[in-house]
Amino acid sequence: MISCDRFDFVCRKSYEFLLSIGASSLPINPFEAIRKKHWGLTTYTELCAMVPGNVTVNDIAEACKSRDGFTVYSGGNYCIAYNDTVRVRNRIRFTLMHEAGHIICGHFNGGITDINQYRELESEANLFASNVLAPAAVIKACGLCTPEQLMAACGLSYNAAKVRLEQIMSIKQHPLDSKILKAFESYINICNRRIDIGSADICLDSSAV
Ligand SMILES: [Zn+2]
Repeated sequence: MISCDRFDFVCRKSYEFLLSIGASSLPINPFEAIRKKHWGLTTYTELCAMVPGNVTVNDIAEACKSRDGFTVYSGGNYCIAYNDTVRVRNRIRFTLMHEAGHIICGHFNGGITDINQYRELESEANLFASNVLAPAAVIKACGLCTPEQLMAACGLSYNAAKVRLEQIMSIKQHPLDSKILKAFESYINICNRRIDIGSADICLDSSAV
């Protein structure tokens, strides 16, 4: 469970991240975002080739205790490794922004003391990824209100889109909303025009943002 303070902190960090990479439309490109932050990026397949012997992707996943991805900090820079054999591309997109969340939210700055803290940091990284891939202010302004719309616009899996929609309903206004809306202004206008033309399953009022 994320405390209110940390919830606000992670939302702020995710908006600052979007602004820092110059994001102005959806879907966000996680590969481009990582490139802009100058972090290293590698795949489990590449790691297999680097290790002597007959190492498989499953061996890598087991050794790093993650089927999806992990990040290492060398003291100078971060390097994200992700499992490129995962068939669902949207899962990879989420993993990359989850790892970015660990970096941006400062999770490498202190050791993990217990399982509860570990779970908290995982929740924070998930919240960060959700708010980067489906920024609450933009989703509301575009009137996206079904999991299908969110999947198409943001490149989320159906389940992630469903969870994210419920989360967005409870997210209050944020001081950085106006900056984000300004950055995404053209995209939001195009999105609203499309929804107007395609009629009307609009269920979030953009004036409520
Ligand atoms: Zn994690």
